[in-house]
Amino acid sequence: MSETKGKIGVTTENIFPVIKKFLYSDHEIFLRELVANAVDADQKMKALAASGEFKGELGELNVRIVLDEDARTLKVIDNGLGMTAEEVDQYINQIAFSSAGEFLEKYKDQIGNIIGHFGLGFYSAFMVSKKVTIDTLSWKEGAKAVKWTCDGSPEYEMTDSDKSERGTEITLYIDDEDAEFATKGRIQTLLDKYCKFMPVPVIFGKEQEWKDGKYADTDKDNVINGTEPLWTRKPADLKPEDYMEFYRTLYPMQEEPLFYIHLNVDYPFHLTGILYFPKIKDRMEITRNKIQLYCNQMFVTDSVDNIVPDFLTLLHGVIDSPDIPLNVSRSYLQSDANVKKISGYITRKVADRLEEIFKNERESLEKKWDNLKLFIEYGMLSDEKFCERAMKFCLLKNTDGKYFSIDDYRKAIEGAQTDKDKKTVFLYATDPESQYPFIEAAKNKGYDVLLMDCQLDSHFVNMLEMKLENSRFARVDSDTIDNLVPKEDKIKPELGDAEKADLNTIFQSVLPKENQYYVVADNLGENAAPIAITQSEFMRRYREMSSLGGGMNFYGEMPASYNITVNMQNPLVARIMEAKQAEVKPQAAVEDAPKDATEEQKKAATDAKNAAAEEHKADLEAFASRNEILKQITDLALLANGMLKGKDLSDFISRSEKVVADAYLK
Ligand code: ADP
Ligand code: MG
Repeated sequence: MSETKGKIGVTTENIFPVIKKFLYSDHEIFLRELVANAVDADQKMKALAASGEFKGELGELNVRIVLDEDARTLKVIDNGLGMTAEEVDQYINQIAFSSAGEFLEKYKDQIGNIIGHFGLGFYSAFMVSKKVTIDTLSWKEGAKAVKWTCDGSPEYEMTDSDKSERGTEITLYIDDEDAEFATKGRIQTLLDKYCKFMPVPVIFGKEQEWKDGKYADTDKDNVINGTEPLWTRKPADLKPEDYMEFYRTLYPMQEEPLFYIHLNVDYPFHLTGILYFPKIKDRMEITRNKIQLYCNQMFVTDSVDNIVPDFLTLLHGVIDSPDIPLNVSRSYLQSDANVKKISGYITRKVADRLEEIFKNERESLEKKWDNLKLFIEYGMLSDEKFCERAMKFCLLKNTDGKYFSIDDYRKAIEGAQTDKDKKTVFLYATDPESQYPFIEAAKNKGYDVLLMDCQLDSHFVNMLEMKLENSRFARVDSDTIDNLVPKEDKIKPELGDAEKADLNTIFQSVLPKENQYYVVADNLGENAAPIAITQSEFMRRYREMSSLGGGMNFYGEMPASYNITVNMQNPLVARIMEAKQAEVKPQAAVEDAPKDATEEQKKAATDAKNAAAEEHKADLEAFASRNEILKQITDLALLANGMLKGKDLSDFISRSEKVVADAYLK
């Protein structure tokens, strides 16, 4: 062949500045692109042999990476189909025909928006090279070897090559700024990252062995990839151990996952992959970006956030699809129709798998539930479609450690826990230790109490309440059990306004000052505790949500408020009320000033009224401070709620010792 010189047929002015500029941050992808082309060439060769078009010796198809650190050259060599001079001209020179040209044509108006990786293929070699040569010999009979040389300007040279074996050898003369790519360590790292699962063997140097006090090459090729990664194999041929072992090769330092899903779809898009459910115990442990995205076994990225719904980024594993457009900037991805379909498909598959586990491996699901719960709840809270499906397989755990499906649980409690308005009340505890007395009180009534101790549970409870018709969720300590599940109208204590006010004053005066209290009288039964301290469900939920960051800070900043329910049927309370009756004289009655009174007379009447009220309040407080039963039962209620602290606690202890001594020693 006579020497040819020419200009690369770029449709846009000059592709090289574009390559250098826009791919700046991603220089390393050149290696992935060149290896991908070499792999393609090998696979096309294989196809030619399979179809009978090629009848010669196929040999063992592979890709070799050869680095010369001193000369700063890097070669990518394949024994695939090679190219004739015409093909080099068509595929390499006339960029318009290859993806790079099309790409630039398509996006030339918005080139400024384009970031990240778009497969510029072969031309990405110029990101790191001052000169690139191609030596290639086509498989076609009588083909002549060609050498193509280009020094990074749009000018190229084509001459005869002395290549004698079928295939293509690309040589990069690494430029000074990119010298890192002429080091063994860096190339090994890149091959591990991008080529670990490519479908033909990729060879980089020789395997090493420890000999005479140093590492030396053996004569065995160093193959860096496994050509048949697990996700490309048939699920029927695989055992659970295989999946676990593959997980360990992907994430050597991670704990075993809970479950896995093998994805495999051909229509309307191609996608294979394996996803794993990791153990997630609390929010702090969540690691995202553990899913690796591949395109025909070539690694593309480990950030899949625009491809799968947010909650699925908590999963680990591999997705391989040639149908995810990789050439476009990531912000376009979300609106891509294929990506939407893929995202919907994966969500559905995850739900299918969980439902299947729910049906067939219930015991295993229950065992692993505590580590899976956060993921499922997050999915249910963030993805409406997933939520619909998950209502079937989501489990609820009660304070006895038993698991139920939502439906089963509802059926189990419906009988006892339906209130007078026909609403089923789901009782739950968030801390079985500190809420123990309330849980016991509920159980004594024959009620069941759920455990909701996970970070997302306050949101989850809100969501369930909206989904489940005719139901209500109540934290077990948010009111007395009779009020949480109110039955037919029960008899309330009959107290006059004055008596209610007295009751309030007495208790306020013996309760710690830092909180707010609402004192109410109720009939809880003779054997129930004299006082129950509860916190309103509404207030508490809002405080919790604002602390999780829900923008409801108003509630977060208010002092904590509690309901003090005084059980009027308790004998100790009855005794206090009798003592009050005997010891505190009623508030002195002060007549209103007559209508036609002067301003002065009116003021005198108001003053007298206020004075009477003050005096009565002082009387009540004096009574409260000397009434030991009152102090004692209030402190006991505080103690039961973990609210008795400091001096109050130590006073309580000395008082109690005295009570015990009085009872036993006299
Ligand atoms: P793409 O791979 O998307 O087609 P590239 O720029 O990577 O774009 O490659 C352009 C074309 O050059 C390929 O389609 C192929 O026809 C040819 N080519 C590149 N590398 C090789 C190779 N190693 N062997 C044979 N043909 C190659
Ligand atoms: Mg390519």
